[in-house]
Amino acid sequence: MNGDSNAVDWENIFRALEVWRTETLRHGNTFPADSIDTAVTGIAHQYSRDPWAVLVSTILSLRTKDEVTRVSSRQVLDTCPTPAKLLKLPVEEIARLAYPAGFYRTKAANLKNIAAILMEQYDGQVPPDMDTLLALPGVGRKTANLVLSEAFDIDAICVDIHVHRISNRAGWLGPEGTRGPEQTEMTLREILPKRYWKRINSLLVFYGQRVCRPVSPYCSRCVIGGHCRRRGVERTR
Ligand code: SF4
Repeated sequence: MNGDSNAVDWENIFRALEVWRTETLRHGNTFPADSIDTAVTGIAHQYSRDPWAVLVSTILSLRTKDEVTRVSSRQVLDTCPTPAKLLKLPVEEIARLAYPAGFYRTKAANLKNIAAILMEQYDGQVPPDMDTLLALPGVGRKTANLVLSEAFDIDAICVDIHVHRISNRAGWLGPEGTRGPEQTEMTLREILPKRYWKRINSLLVFYGQRVCRPVSPYCSRCVIGGHCRRRGVERTR
């Protein structure tokens, strides 16, 4: 990697990550089979990319571990496969289904309000539009981007803690880096070719959970080390 932040070699970074991911899965990773994808991606596949299922799962996934999101999402969606069905339940019952997701009571209240808005204004459908999604209670950019990409196959960059951390460590976002996920998303929208927008989240989440860990990353076995400046990394394995 040279000193020009615009010279990030995305093609080789993505190629290396894709090959590593394929090899990791082929040689038997130690995680449960359904942790190959993030929880929301798994739910999106399981429910045939149904936008309501993706939206519910994404909201439940906030500040919640993947394995908990899977359980919580299935509990809610099996009982409430549509906004109309969820709207009929009291918030307490929705919260019981959402448990043990983090902040399950707040999420239950948000889901009920969202279902009411969808029924009243959008004929019970989840709209494929960023601004409309952002206007829904409890929906931020991460949620909206994930719904757009997973449910509607629209080019969108979902930035979570892994994408934010690895992109900054590697120095891909320029010498100053970024202060938060939203700034990371805006910077990536400028420098990352569109063909990679939908892939970056699942690849870097998978990589961030296994190699570029938050504390003491496994730099010695990193497949993109040649594209990384290791900014802020004090201890490695
Ligand atoms: S070299 Fe280390 S800090 Fe950089 S991406 Fe690889 S694991 Fe992460």
